[in-house]
Amino acid sequence: MSKEKEIITSQLRRPPQGLLGVAKHCFKGRPLVILTNPILEDKTPFPTVFWLTCPVLVKEVAKLESGGWIDRFQALLDKDEELYQKFVQAHESYLLFRKQLLSPASRMSLSSTKGKVLLETGVGGVRNFRKIKCLHAHYAHFLATGINPIGELIHKKIGEISSCQNECESE
Ligand SMILES: [Zn+2]
Repeated sequence: MSKEKEIITSQLRRPPQGLLGVAKHCFKGRPLVILTNPILEDKTPFPTVFWLTCPVLVKEVAKLESGGWIDRFQALLDKDEELYQKFVQAHESYLLFRKQLLSPASRMSLSSTKGKVLLETGVGGVRNFRKIKCLHAHYAHFLATGINPIGELIHKKIGEISSCQNECESE
């Protein structure tokens, strides 16, 4: 196993499935967001191609989610047309990027099956591009690409992590 895959395994507490690479590294040079194949080894469709792996940030985002921030961001989105437009664009670009990861052959084989989720959904696998659903997915998308407005708001709330306990360091 590569050193990087080892770190990811200890971050997730399981081996990563369908790993294509690291989309973003943290300030210590460890994986922060990984890029995942939309079709896993066992052929399961997996719509979340950007996955947050840093355990410190996973925890911070989980705190926001349990603190009611999905609803708060959703309310913000529902009344701010400009933010909403950017949010829809983020979903669309996520979907386009995911499609580009698929080979033409696998795209064909998906079109009439449950794999449709890969061809129709946005960030977090949602069909309704007005819905936020999972903050982790939006934050991972923002960290990897810089184009997700909800991810950007999450980033502002969490702030830069400039030190950590090396929770992602494998022993
Ligand atoms: Zn989440």
